[in-house]
Amino acid sequence: MNDHRRLGRELDLFDTHPLIGSGLPFWLPAGAAVRRALEDFVHELERRNGYQHVNSPVLGKRELYERSGHWSHYSDDMFPPMEVGGEQFVLRPSLCPHHALMFAARPRSHRDLPLRLAELGGMYRGELSGVLGGLSRVRAIQLNDGHVFCPPDSAAAEVSAALDLIEAAHGQLGVVPARYRLSLRGDGAKYVDDPAMWSSAEAILREALNARGRAFDEERGEGSFYGPKIDIQVVDPQGRESTLSTVQVDLFQPGRFDLSYVGPDQAAHRPVMVHRSLVGSLERLMAHLVEIHGGAFPAWFAPVQAVVLPVTDAEVPAAEELVRRSVAAGLRASMAAPDQGTLGARVRSNRLVPYQLVVGPAEAGLGEAALRLRDGSRHEARPIAQVLAWMAARASPAF
Ligand SMILES: [Zn+2]
Repeated sequence: MNDHRRLGRELDLFDTHPLIGSGLPFWLPAGAAVRRALEDFVHELERRNGYQHVNSPVLGKRELYERSGHWSHYSDDMFPPMEVGGEQFVLRPSLCPHHALMFAARPRSHRDLPLRLAELGGMYRGELSGVLGGLSRVRAIQLNDGHVFCPPDSAAAEVSAALDLIEAAHGQLGVVPARYRLSLRGDGAKYVDDPAMWSSAEAILREALNARGRAFDEERGEGSFYGPKIDIQVVDPQGRESTLSTVQVDLFQPGRFDLSYVGPDQAAHRPVMVHRSLVGSLERLMAHLVEIHGGAFPAWFAPVQAVVLPVTDAEVPAAEELVRRSVAAGLRASMAAPDQGTLGARVRSNRLVPYQLVVGPAEAGLGEAALRLRDGSRHEARPIAQVLAWMAARASPAF
């Protein structure tokens, strides 16, 4: 059974320390390398699909969350306010209010829409320590977030476009969703009480889902406090289900922040806010990827993509040169030298590395390397430039 907490420590991906606190994991170099590859991929996928990236601070005044509705609907999940200079600041529970204010910060015309803002940003959740463990439930979250501000009549198309990107991302990550869930409001004070608003938002999501012909389940009581959402659910090897990706239609916060754009009729119109996360938080994504791949990641986000294995000490200089050239070719590469054990033992201890390059006396003399893949298959020794080109072509995600 692949438990990401055990594998995460074994593979040196992440850890925690009681002095930092539970639910506050840190990413070790191998985990940070994976994370950077994932961040770069998502960033590039978004850039190629019309998103502009922004950055915003991880806290804001208490009044911001009173305005957004978080304070009255979501404060149980938030950290308590911090008092500074007579003002109260809150670690943000979501990025939406900052992005709404960025929309409001400039005059907007219908020609600027859809405005797609994305940010990989920090947010915080005041979870009780009893429910924390590993990366799947944490107090400090790095969220792949994005908000599309669009006219109401293009909201369904924007939802559908976000689902396209989610499916593209899952394909590259090797993620297979368990099901799509239409998450609706439940009873109680958690949800904004505006039935007409809820049914309009729900209609937009249904239109997008039905146009795709995608099967989905409906569940009440799983919506956000401000609107319904499509959740893309994954199941871990222990059978536990969680939400990885989400697309939400929000007709509430645009009103709370009085967002508007000038339409073709020169009048002010209210945009719809489509919230979407292609891959969720990096913490939960990493936990899921570790579990489904058992640490044998696809080459493009493997912490080490190529390991160079000199057969004896005599080939170490040639191996060091091969590591340098691999790194210069854009690969994450390192050497496992003979002082780490026999060749067989080094092959086994690097079994999760996608590309193993064996350098014996013949290869060192000829400037070649013999490639061995994770499944045990071997390539004939070939000139180093050819081997590097072969690996580099496979060590990047496709867009
Ligand atoms: Zn949002």
